[in-house]
Amino acid sequence: MSHMLIIGGGLAGGTAAEALRDEGFDGDITVVAAEAHPPYQRPPLSKGYLAGSEGLDAVLLHPAEWYDERGIRLITGVAATSLEPAAHAVELEDGERLTYDAVLLATGATPRMVPLPGHDLPGVMTLRRLDDSDELAAQLREGGKRLVVIGAGWIGMEVAATARGFGNEVAILERDAVPLAMALGAEMGEVFRGLHLEHGVDLRTSVGVDRIVGEGRAEGVVVDGETLAADLVLVGVGASANTALAEEAGLDILNGVLTDEALRTSAADVFAAGDIANAFHPVLQRHLRSEHWANALNAGKVVARSMLGQPASFDDIPYFYTDQYDLGMELSGYAPLMTDAEIVVRGDLDAREFIAFWTDDGRIVAGMNVNVWDVNDKVQSLIRSGARIDPDRLRDPEAPLEDL
Ligand code: FAD
Repeated sequence: MSHMLIIGGGLAGGTAAEALRDEGFDGDITVVAAEAHPPYQRPPLSKGYLAGSEGLDAVLLHPAEWYDERGIRLITGVAATSLEPAAHAVELEDGERLTYDAVLLATGATPRMVPLPGHDLPGVMTLRRLDDSDELAAQLREGGKRLVVIGAGWIGMEVAATARGFGNEVAILERDAVPLAMALGAEMGEVFRGLHLEHGVDLRTSVGVDRIVGEGRAEGVVVDGETLAADLVLVGVGASANTALAEEAGLDILNGVLTDEALRTSAADVFAAGDIANAFHPVLQRHLRSEHWANALNAGKVVARSMLGQPASFDDIPYFYTDQYDLGMELSGYAPLMTDAEIVVRGDLDAREFIAFWTDDGRIVAGMNVNVWDVNDKVQSLIRSGARIDPDRLRDPEAPLEDL
């Protein structure tokens, strides 16, 4: 009987465990999860779950008893502390030693903290875990709080939107000139600036945060010499891949754990998926690390086949979505190719109802639909086709996407 071991109880790890059974594997499966919860997905933590409109069932992939029913051993609240590829063994922090036939590293990422004076005061938070979301919810759902968000990235912007929904005062402080500029570039980042300004957020860009101040608890953030009062400070400045296990085991690391397109690492029978994996993308012909929900979900399925020795290739077009206030957005495409691309807009930018296409020499490398629905598959087909498309037709809402 062989043993498939999964380290990490997030979306990639949980999905891989399920997919192993779905593929007909009837040997032993163990999931080792450092957090106290069964595997769960994180997008609701800054949106519906934080707001209270979605419960735990929207977050957990499956209830705890499901793992028993499917014959999966689920170890929660215990971290793996070392990986020995040569011995095919993993040691856990409680001293248990597990041997494996194949192991999946799906340890995700940890939010970065700003190295500012006062960052360790109570009331300064990051958001990654279910417990973080519960802690934030306890504060924000009361309303009337002053929330200062450091960093205008996806998580900061989503929490700002949820917090405004409860009547909290919200300020967002961003070092760059435009929010979300790293992800979307300046033109599309401005769409999100407009959205938040309209909803009463004090969004400040090109600012320098000096320190967080307070007596025993965060009470303010000093930005360019001015103190903004705060009851709560959320730091959303990105996350770092949890590569410690892989690094100590001597695996090849470069901006995450390097894998081939079948999600195999440099060590035999060791695989990686989700936020930690910098996987070779067969279409792009380069490595790509994606910190998105769909990446963890779909890589979890592909890696299960790979662990079972079946042919597998992870060639998805990266996909991301966000919901903020009344705006819903989906983005498909290759981030590395977006930087130098030209943007063609179809629809109404001011009304925030449009599709933006990033084009490189007429070929679409990414597409973002904002409050326009049921088009993502078509956008992905256009990207996949690699065909040159006349920008005037692309721009024209009367030209059906499927005829371009
Ligand atoms: P994770 O979900 O981070 O899971 C990894 C797990 O491994 C963690 O539970 C960790 O504790 C555990 N672990 C780490 N080390 C060990 C160890 N040594 N032993 C055992 N366990 C260990 N993406 C989108 O596309 N759209 C969104 O709207 C969106 N919203 C998000 C909102 C929030 C608040 C957050 C935090 C993320 C959001 N994301 C979103 C990103 C998405 O959730 C991640 O890409 C996804 O969770 C990655 O899944 P993963 O399984 O790779 O890692």
